[in-house]
Amino acid sequence: MKKEKISVIVPCYNEEESLPIFYNEITNVAKELDKVDFEFLFINDGSKDNTLNILRELSKKDKRVRFISFSRNFGKEGGMYAGLEHATGDYVAIMDADMQDPPSMIITMYEDIKKEGYDCVALYSPNHKGYSILRKIFTNCWYKLIGKISSTPQIPGARDFRLMKRKMVDAIVNMKEYNRYSKGIFSFVGFNTKWIEYEAPDRVAGTSKFSFWKLFRYAIEGILAFSTTPLVISAIIGLILCLIAFITIIIIIVKTLVFGDPVSGWPSLACIVIFMGGLQLFFFGIMGMYLSKLYLEVKKRPKYIISETEQDCH
Ligand code: UDP
Ligand code: MG
Repeated sequence: MKKEKISVIVPCYNEEESLPIFYNEITNVAKELDKVDFEFLFINDGSKDNTLNILRELSKKDKRVRFISFSRNFGKEGGMYAGLEHATGDYVAIMDADMQDPPSMIITMYEDIKKEGYDCVALYSPNHKGYSILRKIFTNCWYKLIGKISSTPQIPGARDFRLMKRKMVDAIVNMKEYNRYSKGIFSFVGFNTKWIEYEAPDRVAGTSKFSFWKLFRYAIEGILAFSTTPLVISAIIGLILCLIAFITIIIIIVKTLVFGDPVSGWPSLACIVIFMGGLQLFFFGIMGMYLSKLYLEVKKRPKYIISETEQDCH
């Protein structure tokens, strides 16, 4: 009988220090799980260090190693999508190169899928170990918010680390949107997922590629991609303010008719005008954010551009 194959997708951006350690560990896992074949698909996301050279060397000496090298940095989302599109395995795992997603867990994840009949096994770290206090507060608030305003459930602390069956991978690849928020997409496609809690260890080498600001933008991306509630809220607030204005106009007309029209209250009027102007710009801004996403979707720009693969090294 033909052996099953697991593809391991590893997005890499300046990971020259972590890669040899990761490769060593994942090959040990492959040795242990010898009843399945492996394919290691590294995505070089426009690294400026020696990552590409390391991948070239690995692919020359190990036929299981494949790589896709982008023409520039496209972001982890582009890397994951390229990996999912090109993976050939019956099962596909996504994991970081920095050992925060321990390769040895692939073995239990595979066993869980085989024995317990899940379509996917995914990991989450709800305690956010190693995050600063500000980042922890922000992350917790974000999960509370998205839980309320989106119909696509998000597991607090969910990582991108997961092992999926081919049918789930195909469903994800079929979601071709340009503005990708994979944690939402994984949840949107459904399928029977087992969640395992674990404490993500610290990065083995190098530094995190996600600054607070980059994470903040990613959080906004998640809201725009999986909720239209901000638009509804702005419409409702607009309606309430119109109602208040209408009632106030009637009160003013009646007061003027009964008591005459002394010129007073201009400071409060100025405040109201500034407040309303600000509110309108804010809601225009929200609309603009959705519009800008639509603009990018319509243009259908590529999510990544390949400059080299392992085929060019053979
Ligand atoms: N990564 C990537 N492209 C980027 C940023 C990150 O492919 O533009 C990769 C990175 O090499 C790592 C994974 O995505 O394998 C997660 O990044 P990192 O560990 O820096 O993020 P953190 O774990 O700190 O959130
Ligand atoms: Mg990491």
